[in-house]
Amino acid sequence: MHFDQGWPLSNAEYPMPSPDSTHSYYRASMSEPRARHAPLRGRCETKVCVIGGGFAGLNTAFGLTERGTTDVLLLESDRIGHGASGRNGGFVFGGFSRGEGALLHELGPSRARALYAGTTAAVELIRRRIQRCRIECDQRETGVIWANWFRDQEVLRARQRLLAEHYGVDWQWLPETDLRRLVHSTRYHDGLFEPQAFHFHPLKYAWGLAQAATAAGLTIHEHTPAIALERSGGGWRIRTPEGEIEAEQVVLSCGGYLAGLRRAVDAGVMPIATYVMVTEPLGARMSEVMTTNAAIYDSRFAFDYYRPLPDTRLLWGGRISVLDRSPDAVKRLLYRDLLKVFPQLAGVRIDYAWSGLMSYARHQMPQIGRIDDGLWLAQAFGGHGVAPTTFAGEVLASAIAEGDPQWQEFADYGLVSALKPAGFIGAQLSYWWAQAKDEWKAWRETSN
Ligand SMILES: Cc1cc2nc3c(=O)[nH]c(=O)nc-3n(C[C@H](O)[C@H](O)[C@H](O)COP(=O)(O)OP(=O)(O)OC[C@H]3O[C@@H](n4cnc5c(N)ncnc54)[C@H](O)[C@@H]3O)c2cc1C
Repeated sequence: MHFDQGWPLSNAEYPMPSPDSTHSYYRASMSEPRARHAPLRGRCETKVCVIGGGFAGLNTAFGLTERGTTDVLLLESDRIGHGASGRNGGFVFGGFSRGEGALLHELGPSRARALYAGTTAAVELIRRRIQRCRIECDQRETGVIWANWFRDQEVLRARQRLLAEHYGVDWQWLPETDLRRLVHSTRYHDGLFEPQAFHFHPLKYAWGLAQAATAAGLTIHEHTPAIALERSGGGWRIRTPEGEIEAEQVVLSCGGYLAGLRRAVDAGVMPIATYVMVTEPLGARMSEVMTTNAAIYDSRFAFDYYRPLPDTRLLWGGRISVLDRSPDAVKRLLYRDLLKVFPQLAGVRIDYAWSGLMSYARHQMPQIGRIDDGLWLAQAFGGHGVAPTTFAGEVLASAIAEGDPQWQEFADYGLVSALKPAGFIGAQLSYWWAQAKDEWKAWRETSN
């Protein structure tokens, strides 16, 4: 998602989500018992050690095994998919948190197009992997709608033009009458439909990916936080509570759940919380809300995002904040947002609510590349990370296994400081400011 200009907190400064806030629909709806990977005990050696079992780490590890590098070990401090990757909205679409206009301006047409194309290729790669590895992840090939909260069409028209002219991507125009036939809310005007996008159950996908990668030779250790990283001869030594690893190469991919291994790496991102809730099954009532299976988000800076689930529940997400919130607070906040769009759902029961941390860099682009000899980084995917983490996994796997220099294309978006703690205040203020501007614009439109 384009949680564009906001960003937030470090381990020390940030109240990590309480265990309750991980009470997610995704966990509750895992169809099979998840394979457990034993914590690391003792010493071992490996060619590549990947730290972090979210999509960035999993995709890098899987990409390595696909390229014949089977001596790969992945450490996860909790369980696979514990972070943003196992809690997100499940939208799988191209692009980065950084807008396409900014990319064009900063990189020029051909480099911007090449980077964007990496994310649309990643959407296709996810599709292929789901099919090839037979991952059951409630995939819904129904596209994504960007619904206009405002009457003013220009923002949508301009984005549609920009995507077509510079990125070769066709988002289809959805006139207000058509949109309202699909989504029964008077809040929206026109929309853009992204047919190549889809949505899925991200935790099932993370687990499927982990299973496929272990079948191909990857070793995973869960409940194994990396607690120290230091040089050792030509490689690296990683310490864990009960073990030690000597690795030729290391990949840091810890997202907003900062690893505490390298100061500059943690300082480079703001962890920002965002919230999700899931209703009770709506049954036939779903048709009062929507008659499309597309996933939907709107055109405000602080947008809502939602999608129908296979069991007729509605998954609803939104808000970004530097504050973590309890599941009850998340429910209260998001329920109000839900009723603004679908008043017909008044009284609906909310069965699940949780929060997750995204990692944002100041430049709103992922930080991907080599930061020291044999030390690689993939973080700062923000709120738009499912496809970009897959892209990053390919870039890093081909760099490590084959010496591919493509990672240097991300050099413009380096490891700059996120200016914590002042950045938290700036992030929250800029979020509120953008939210206020949206409210003002909507108010002006309705009062004219
Ligand atoms: C609520 C929410 C909704 C979102 N919705 C969408 C969406 O619909 N579509 C989309 O494209 N993107 C979405 N995003 C963003 C997307 O989920 C992220 O950008 C992406 O998952 C980031 O993946 P990651 O691997 O970098 O981080 P994470 O998935 O957070 O993984 C990092 C992992 O590292 C582990 N770790 C941390 N420190 C250590 C350590 N020292 N040792 C070992 N392990 C460690 C953590 O436990 C964690 O599992 C959303 C994010 C959130 C939070």
